[in-house]
Amino acid sequence: MSEETIFSKIIRQEIPTQLLYQDELVSAFRDIAPQVSSHILIVPNKHISTINDVTEADELTMGRMIIVAKKLAKEEGIDESGYRLIINCNEDGGQEVFHIHMHLLGGQRLGAMLSV
Ligand code: 5GP
Repeated sequence: MSEETIFSKIIRQEIPTQLLYQDELVSAFRDIAPQVSSHILIVPNKHISTINDVTEADELTMGRMIIVAKKLAKEEGIDESGYRLIINCNEDGGQEVFHIHMHLLGGQRLGAMLSV
């Protein structure tokens, strides 16, 4: 579970992807298959596979992800209309890429929170 994913290559810009934000802790870029008009992924620069692997040492990074989500929501012009932040964990959570990422989703009225 500690294998790097494609997100590490994006963060290091080994795969050219427009970064919407990057600092020493986190990076953000648009989802390759957007589910809504604003669909951004906010990721720790350090590879952490799942939320289960987060430690107290990651507190600042996890908090920074929220701060960056808020900033990007404003830049996208969806802060007032509203948006949703999602982090999926493991199979039942629907996680496909095993490098923690927060989905920032907005730009339209979102449906029910869960489809089960
Ligand atoms: P998960 O299901 O793991 O929460 O979400 C993974 C997300 O990563 C999906 O929404 C998927 O479209 C996105 N994704 C997968 N590969 C790439 C990629 O190479 N580039 C970008 N920008 N997004 C990706």
